[in-house]
Amino acid sequence: MKKLYAIAITTAALALGSFQLQAAETIRFGTEATYPPFEFLDDNNEVTGFDIDLAKAICAEIKAECTFSTQPFDSLIPGLKYRRFDAVIAGMDITPARQKQVDFSMPYFENSASFVAAKNKSFKSANDLTGKAVGVQNGSTFQTYMIDKFEKQGVTVRPYETIQNAFLDMTNGRLDAVFSDTAVANDWLLEQGKGDYSRMGEVIRDADYFGVGYGIAVRQKNPLKSKIDDALTTLKNNGTWQKIHDKYFPEAR
Ligand code: GLN
Repeated sequence: MKKLYAIAITTAALALGSFQLQAAETIRFGTEATYPPFEFLDDNNEVTGFDIDLAKAICAEIKAECTFSTQPFDSLIPGLKYRRFDAVIAGMDITPARQKQVDFSMPYFENSASFVAAKNKSFKSANDLTGKAVGVQNGSTFQTYMIDKFEKQGVTVRPYETIQNAFLDMTNGRLDAVFSDTAVANDWLLEQGKGDYSRMGEVIRDADYFGVGYGIAVRQKNPLKSKIDDALTTLKNNGTWQKIHDKYFPEAR
C-alpha cells in the first residue's frame, strides 16, 4: 500500500513537472549587441540595454522565459524567418519594406536619423558630403536612404557590420561622417565623441525609409504579436516603459 502510494505521488509529481515545463513558454529573441543604448554587452559579456530590459519586462508580463542570441544586423530577419529565434528586438525600424517579410509589434520607441561628423570639418548639411565617404550599418534603413538619396550626388556610402566600426573608422580619418539612429549617435557622442564630433544638420524623419518607430519583429501571422502588443500596452500604462527609458536616457528625464 505504502509503495503504491509512493508511486502515485511520484507519477503526480512527474505529471506536474512536465505540465510546468510546458506552461513556461520560451521566447527566443535575436538581436545585434553593439548598438548602445539599445543593446550592448556589459562587463560580464551579458547582453543588456533598453531593448533587452524591455524584452525581459514583456516576458515577465507574458510569463515566458526570454533568451537572447546575437547575430549581425542584416541576418536578423532571415534568422527569424528560418526560426532560429521567435522575435527580433534590435532598434529595428518598422518599415513598409520589412513589413512585406515579417510582422511588427506596435511601435515602442520613436526614432529619427542623424549625421555625425568631426566639428572641424564644418559640414553644415548633408549637401556638403558630395565627394565624401559616409558610414552606415549594413542592412539598415540608413544604408538604403543614403544609396537612394545621396549616392547619385557623389557621396560614397560605406556599409559596416557594426555601427561602432563605422564610428571608429571616422575617428581614424577613413570616413567623413556616419549616418545612424539619433539616439545611438547621441550615445556615441556622449561616451566617445569627446567634444570633437557633433551631429550635423537637422534630424531626419522620413516614414518611407525609417518607418514609424522601432518595433519587435515576429514571423507573419504569429499570435505572439498580440501577446507582445498587450504586454507593451501594460508596460506603457503602468510606468515600466518609462522607468526603463529613464535608466538608459537619463538626460531626457
Ligand atoms: N534603426 C536601423 C534600422 O532599423 C538600424 C538598426 C540597427 O543597426 N540595429 O535599420
